[in-house]
Amino acid sequence: MADKKNNKRNNNKNMDEDYNPRFRKQRKKVCALCSDKNFVLDYKNPEQLRKFINDKGKILPRRTTGACAKHQRDITIAVKRARHIAILPYATKD
Ligand SMILES: [Zn+2]
Repeated sequence: MADKKNNKRNNNKNMDEDYNPRFRKQRKKVCALCSDKNFVLDYKNPEQLRKFINDKGKILPRRTTGACAKHQRDITIAVKRARHIAILPYATKD
């Protein structure tokens, strides 16, 4: 008769080899305002602020701009000021 006690399955032995490319390491972006000392964020300069908004006029997230938390706050304030004085749009029509 077969010895069924010793037929334990070992399903989880290859967990570490399950490489998922969705979670691969990406190169860390460097904050544009930290790296460039001469870069002065100006709410009266729409060409400069246009880099931080998308085509709909929305402010881009930090994962896209690469800015640090401090400078992302500055960017947000600058874009909102620019919108208030009608330099940048609040929203754009498709
Ligand atoms: Zn920064």
